[in-house]
Amino acid sequence: MDLLLRSLLTLGASEKDLAKVIAAANQSAESGIEVCGGVSSGHGTLGYVKRMSESQSMPECRIDSHVHIRSEDGLRDAARAGVGAVRDAGTRDGAGLAFTSGGAPAALVCISAGWALFKQGGYGGAFGVPVTTGKDAKQAIQQLKAAGAGIIKVMASGMVSLKTPGTITAGGFTGDELAFIVDEAAQQGLAVMAHVNGEQAIVAAARAGVRSIEHGFFMTRLALDALAKAGAFWTPTVGALARAAEAGSVAPEMKVYIGGLIDSHLDLIRQASEAGVPLAIGTDSVLPDAGYAAAYESEMSYFEQAGLAREAVLQIACENGARLLGL
Ligand SMILES: [Zn+2]
Repeated sequence: MDLLLRSLLTLGASEKDLAKVIAAANQSAESGIEVCGGVSSGHGTLGYVKRMSESQSMPECRIDSHVHIRSEDGLRDAARAGVGAVRDAGTRDGAGLAFTSGGAPAALVCISAGWALFKQGGYGGAFGVPVTTGKDAKQAIQQLKAAGAGIIKVMASGMVSLKTPGTITAGGFTGDELAFIVDEAAQQGLAVMAHVNGEQAIVAAARAGVRSIEHGFFMTRLALDALAKAGAFWTPTVGALARAAEAGSVAPEMKVYIGGLIDSHLDLIRQASEAGVPLAIGTDSVLPDAGYAAAYESEMSYFEQAGLAREAVLQIACENGARLLGL
């Protein structure tokens, strides 16, 4: 029995349920991809695809814990890359919400944040809707829940500056504001994923009770300890920064600086793994994207470069992803 099936059974699915879902899903699977597991739940029938790696005898069960879904073609790109479940971190128009509750093609599970909540005036306009007051946040969370969101996404800081080394652009919520959002989300039965960079903001988000830290650039040992204490996941999205730094508009000396920042990010991934902080694979790809399969491979390679064994990375891609997505 493969890893994901085992983890699903641990999560309480009956073998009979699984067998039924596998049989049904295999019939509709695309060529080259077969479904390795599934479970009936309140969301409808969930299926997972696996594919046998050409170089390995071990099945790969892949989950992407951080993408942005713009259309159904985006989910097809994910399925073609052998990814069986995605967590959509939001788009301004909430396109991913159309694919929750069994609406996704190709036996793929889509947990969607709909659109992100960001602080008016700060970073986040590309993927979210601004909030200014607690009342705004409460309303947005209720609206997202009603629309089928499976997670709440917040922009808890700005992004890594590609102009000034060592800085983060403006944006984010205070620790108290985050705690309020986490509490409001919990009242709707939802957890929170936080886009957050910088030691202070990461620590504040972890203490506020977010389910996962997304990106987490400028992670430190102290911040990792806060994650470990809070039991928060870390989705380090290494490739997102690497790809952003490739742009022609980024100055050569800045590219060198980002290279060093990525090295330090990889070192913190290794430390996180050693400290038992649950990690997840997230490409931060905006889908559709013809380069998606390569981006997923590349993200797994970064974890190996960080010093994790291939088997540990596959487990992160599959079991940790399933746990983080609540599958
Ligand atoms: Zn993102």
